[in-house]
Amino acid sequence: MTKIIWATLVALFCYLGSANAAVQVVATYGWIGDLVQQIGQDRVSVSVLAQPSFDPHFVPPKPSLAVKLRNADLLVINGGQLEIGWLPPVLRQAANARIQPNSEGFLDLSSFVTLSNPRPHATRADGDVHPDGNPHYVFNPDNMSALAYGVAHRLCQLDKASCGFYEQSLARFDERWQAAKIRWQAKLAPLKGQHLVQYHESFDDLAHWLGMTVVANIEPVPGVPPSASHLEKLLKRLADQQVAMIVQEHFRDKEATEWLAKQRQVKWQVLPSDVGATEKSKDLFSWFDEIVDRLAP
Ligand SMILES: [Zn+2]
Repeated sequence: MTKIIWATLVALFCYLGSANAAVQVVATYGWIGDLVQQIGQDRVSVSVLAQPSFDPHFVPPKPSLAVKLRNADLLVINGGQLEIGWLPPVLRQAANARIQPNSEGFLDLSSFVTLSNPRPHATRADGDVHPDGNPHYVFNPDNMSALAYGVAHRLCQLDKASCGFYEQSLARFDERWQAAKIRWQAKLAPLKGQHLVQYHESFDDLAHWLGMTVVANIEPVPGVPPSASHLEKLLKRLADQQVAMIVQEHFRDKEATEWLAKQRQVKWQVLPSDVGATEKSKDLFSWFDEIVDRLAP
């Protein structure tokens, strides 16, 4: 009997211990959730707002999202205005003072990297552009170390007793990431110098990392799907260009990409745009493994 009571007490203490120790983190996207999980491990409890199967620019701002934010200690966002269309009302609705912008419980990961191609003078006619620069910076694996550092540093501020733990965890993560980068770069080395067409500007930073040149976007302007006549014009414009490959994100209609690839007789590929978007992309590492496998010649 005493044994059972002890076992129950120990179990209860373990449960209370982990519940108390965990920093409650909400991430806007799956890849951010996984980054926080990799660094925080059992010291954090992470939930994600956007479903990876949807377009990250347009997340349905359902009431359940505000509920997730209500008790959060930390909100981690992509930034660069990627969430501008859906997060602000959700954040207001959550009415959680700890995670409002400029507070300790709010972390904008775009502040740790330099965004490519800022367009401060963009107007509505330029489409759904991001004036701060391209927010799809996660596709450049060279950015990940700075992002991981940013997460570890903030977790340490919020949970000082675990600083040493987060530091070690960061070092382990970074070592694995650097090794993976060498593997990915070796596999995709033949793509260097080749020309790429993409549907949306999502893969600018990936192309840059690989030494590829983006020669065209299928969208006439960001956020606007191409018409049949736009596609005909694009095909003509590309007539004297080399194109090695056409890529698009997994959540888009594939018709335009497929049509253009057929006309040009080039390879086309759908890339998962977030962790969790496909069965194989379970975490940051397997996500990039899948992207690399799909791009590999
Ligand atoms: Zn975009």
